[in-house]
Amino acid sequence: TMKLDVNVLRYLSKDEFRVLTAVEMGMRNHEIVPAELVDRIAGLKHGGTYKNLRTLLRHKLVHHDSSKYDGFRLTNMGYDFLAIKTFVIRGVIVGVGRQIGVGKESDIFEVVTEDGRTLAMKLHRLGRTSFRAVKSKRDYLRHRTSYNWLYLSRLAALKEFSFMKALEEHGFPVPSAVDCNRHCVLMSLVPGYPLVQVKQLQNPGVVFETIVGLIVRLAEHGLIHCDFNEFNIMIDDDEKVTMIDFPQMVSVSHRNAKMYFDRDVDCIFKFFEKRFNSSPNDDCDRLEESDSDSEDGRKPCFEAIAKKSGSLDKALAASGFTERNQDELEKFVFDKAHDDKTSSDDDNSVEESFCHESELTQEITTCVESHLEDSNGDYLTTSSCGPIMDDRSN
Ligand code: ADP
Ligand code: MG
Repeated sequence: TMKLDVNVLRYLSKDEFRVLTAVEMGMRNHEIVPAELVDRIAGLKHGGTYKNLRTLLRHKLVHHDSSKYDGFRLTNMGYDFLAIKTFVIRGVIVGVGRQIGVGKESDIFEVVTEDGRTLAMKLHRLGRTSFRAVKSKRDYLRHRTSYNWLYLSRLAALKEFSFMKALEEHGFPVPSAVDCNRHCVLMSLVPGYPLVQVKQLQNPGVVFETIVGLIVRLAEHGLIHCDFNEFNIMIDDDEKVTMIDFPQMVSVSHRNAKMYFDRDVDCIFKFFEKRFNSSPNDDCDRLEESDSDSEDGRKPCFEAIAKKSGSLDKALAASGFTERNQDELEKFVFDKAHDDKTSSDDDNSVEESFCHESELTQEITTCVESHLEDSNGDYLTTSSCGPIMDDRSN
């Protein structure tokens, strides 16, 4: 697990944050940002930048790298602090508590609001796992990884936030989306446990039916979760179901939609059969009503649903997460789906990820290239990194 010493956050000065933000801005088009560039962006007098960089280094918020040329880059913690600081400035949270989850590509913490409520904060870490193998093989990527990961993690967070909001508005049982900044999403804390930890249920049939019903209802709204499994379903003491973890969702018009849909369905069927040791349709009205008694007949049919599905997928494109964002992200998160599962109960997960490698590499390359086209703008005039926090911080 990751150490996040938020006390450091409290003691960092305004200038130290200014320099940290300058490193972030420099990373828009440099993997390693030369100190002179940090200095120019920060615009502090009397060598202030260099002194502050040393402090940031000591707190491990930036990393000094002289492998290619001399400079600095943000660490995960540095990026985390920028997002957390922004939430604090916005008055959304006042403190960070214990870590409550470690996903393959995220860290989840409890955070506290001013009025004492506890929320969940998800820090996206795209590329933490799926990239390791690819990275070592492609020089091209080795030069480009860091700032690209910042960008992709930010996209993943934005997507998760947008989807969470839209799903909530349409009455789906999801965490309530509170705020989003950089790679970080704030949401309500879901009570209970991930289904994978639940050994017994009062009404497994009802829970099963609810979950399959969710997959169907999502598809009726034009969406497929793509990572719908026992790790991403929370169950509380009343056996109420909440679904989480949306960065990989796709539209029912996606070219592989049927495969993703069926995979989500299969995953739930298999899990319930194995864990609760009963045929899932034992006490399930809807499924008993279906006319077929074959294995496949019990499962919802994608084509039938997709034919008359709504267009939440289209509405989402207008919600801040653009179709172009979607394409970029999808090239990257494709093979994340069901990673959780393969890694935990399947020794072949390594081999499996290698099978995808050539396809994945191709996708990453395309993604990186399209991002490079984007980031040729002048770092001194660009504003999409967010403001340097001079007026509002401290
Ligand atoms: P990943 O994409 O890395 O799998 P998840 O969103 O699935 O991340 O979160 C990882 C774990 O953190 C979950 O399995 C769950 O235990 C916990 N978690 C995530 N979001 C919440 C939340 N809103 N409330 C409570 N626990 C959560
Ligand atoms: Mg998950």
